[in-house]
Amino acid sequence: MKNSELCDSLISIESRLGKLAHELTDVKRELIAVVEENNLLANENEKLRDKIEAYEQAMSNEPEKRKKVEAKLSKQLSTSKMNMKKLYNDKFHICHVNYGSVREQECFFCLDLLHG
Ligand SMILES: [Zn+2]
Repeated sequence: MKNSELCDSLISIESRLGKLAHELTDVKRELIAVVEENNLLANENEKLRDKIEAYEQAMSNEPEKRKKVEAKLSKQLSTSKMNMKKLYNDKFHICHVNYGSVREQECFFCLDLLHG
């Protein structure tokens, strides 16, 4: 190999290494962002678990309060079911398969959600 060819090869390798170094930096940056988000979500998850635990403890100590909360949840649930029924009757899918798209015929998944 001639000297000029060696130089060209080295320059080419150096250029490719430079590109790889850039890519590596980008990937590292993305990884750091993902790890930070993961930590944030883990913290949020822990706080929510604590709240659920505290809530469950409070509910088990106060049957009257529990009844009220359950009635409220049940009412909210029936309201959301009515909204879903209205959407379905307006010819929209409410199922996870086609949610929000226009419904041209009866859909088993939607019906299962409404009556299942
Ligand atoms: Zn559907």
